Formats: sequence, C-alpha cells, structure tokens
Amino acid sequence: MLYADENSADELEAIHAQRLDVDLEMAEMNAAADAWHAVRDRGYCNHGSAAGHRSRPGQLICTAGCSTVFANDEDWYAQLDDPMANPVPLPGHPAHTPAAAAASQ
Ligand SMILES: [Zn+2]
Repeated sequence: MLYADENSADELEAIHAQRLDVDLEMAEMNAAADAWHAVRDRGYCNHGSAAGHRSRPGQLICTAGCSTVFANDEDWYAQLDDPMANPVPLPGHPAHTPAAAAASQ
C-alpha cells in the first residue's frame, strides 16, 4: 500500500534495498548451511528447529533430531549458535553406530 507521502521512487528504492538484503541473507545462509552440514556430518545435532515443550511451558524441545530440552529461548539460541560447545550426538547417525564405534577402538 502506498501512503500519500510516498512516490514510486521511494517504492523502487525500497524494492532495491530489499533485494540487496536478500542477497546478503543468501550469502549468510550459504555460510551457515556449510557450518550446519559440518556439524551434522560429524554426527551431532545442531538444534536447527525447536518447538514449545508441551508439558513444561517456557521450555523448548529440539525437533531437529536429538530431542534435547532447552530451558528457554536464550538457552536454545546459545546452543544453536555454537552446537559444538555442548555436542549432542544425533541418534542413529552412522558416526555413532556400533560398527563405527568398534572401528574407532
Ligand atoms: Zn538437537
């Protein structure tokens, strides 16, 4: 919607700025995706998604594979930012199968 004090040049500028934001966002997302895969390739959860914990309001539960329960949003964001600070093995990941464990011994 256009407001009375806006003109098409303003609108065009807004569209251009938005495209630039999207490009930067894509570059950031690609870098983040690389880090994401590095963590998951090593068999650890990066807690990429979480949902409200039904029985404990305020808490979140990881829905990206490990079901870790986070105390609150901040706790989740902290572990999302640096999943290897407190690595949680992904259940069923090949890196953690008995065969892989035997091979590493
Ligand atoms: Zn997780």
